[in-house]
Formats: sequence, structure tokens, C-alpha cells
Amino acid sequence: MIPGINAARLRVDLPLQCRCGRVRGVAGGVSSSSGFRFVCYCKDCQGFTHFLERPDVLDRAGGTDIFQMPPGRVKLTTGTDALRCLRLSAKGVLRWYTDCCRTPIGNTAASPRFPVIAVVHSFMVHEADGRSRDEVLGPPLCRIYERSAVGPLPPNAPAPPSLGVFARRASKIFGWWLFGLGRPSPLFDERTNAPRAAPCVLTPSERAAL
Ligand SMILES: [Zn+2]
Ligand SMILES: [Zn+2]
Repeated sequence: MIPGINAARLRVDLPLQCRCGRVRGVAGGVSSSSGFRFVCYCKDCQGFTHFLERPDVLDRAGGTDIFQMPPGRVKLTTGTDALRCLRLSAKGVLRWYTDCCRTPIGNTAASPRFPVIAVVHSFMVHEADGRSRDEVLGPPLCRIYERSAVGPLPPNAPAPPSLGVFARRASKIFGWWLFGLGRPSPLFDERTNAPRAAPCVLTPSERAAL
């Protein structure tokens, strides 16, 4: 490491890849200050992995490790025909995954105007440069919806969000919007704003069965 340089601030281009390797991309300029990492224990994130039959994505308490970043820094380079999109309810967020190996990619709002993509850890590759996820992204800044956890939280679980953490996230998202980093989104058509894969919406009974 170079003296005087804070490793946490080094920005890297992080490879993105589904489990089978068909869908690939890159998250540009990633560092602990370029996004917002947290662990979500909500029932919908758990339901998404049940739908995909990918329980391995969750921690033992049912948590999903997520990194929110601006969509304009995410590029998909191959396999975009395998993109799929799920909504657990008619008004739910868009949950993106790959059809080939049912790897969660991440979540977005229903419109590309909200300048955030919440990338699920399962789509990020961390072994490439020998640095761990914690070294590249920093540790998770908070946990949310812990009441929906399905077991005891891991001993290293991050703290619940403080007001300061909420403010930090809000100012980041405002900055992404201000500097136009929400576009282009790899998940929406740049001209029509339509999702790149038509969302499949679960019926209430399908949702309840997850
Ligand atoms: Zn795949
Ligand atoms: Zn969640």
C-alpha cells in the first residue's frame, strides 16, 4: 500500500457476474465512499431468494448484503438477454435476476428517474484482485428490518441505522441525482425508460406461498 493513501478510498472497477458467468458487467469507480452498503432482513428480500431457489444468497439470519450505487456506474457487457425482472406485488420494487442460473442482480425503483441500483452481493466478484468485499466496499453501514430476521443475527452484524447514517445515504443519493449519475441505467431503455425485461408480477397467493 502506498503511504498516505487510505485504502478504503481507492476506487476500483469491480467485475459483475452471475454464478454461471453468462451475464457479466462491471461496476465502475467502486469504493466505500462511492455507495452505501447495508444488510436487509426484510421478508421481501427473503421472498426474492425463495422465488429464485437461492437460499445461499442469505446469511443465516435471512439477511441480504446489498450495495446501493448510481446506475450510471454499472454496465452490463454480456448476456443481457438473460435479464429477468420480478415484482413481488403490483407496487413493489423491481427485482432483477438472471434467467440462466437465477442469480439475484439487484433492485431498482420502477422508474429510472430514481438514481439508485441496489446491487446484491451475489452479482459482485471479489476474488479478482485479492481484496475482500469488506476491503473494497467497507463494512456494512447498518442493518434494516431486523424484526424479520429468521434467526439470531451474526455476531458481526452492523448496527441499526442512526440518523447520521440516514443523512449520509440521503446526501449521497442527492449527489448522484445532481451529477446525473443515475443514467444511463443498464436495466432501463435509455429512450423509452421501459425496463429491459418486462416485470413479472406475482399474485397475492403466489407471494404468500414464498
Ligand atoms: Zn448465469
Ligand atoms: Zn429487503
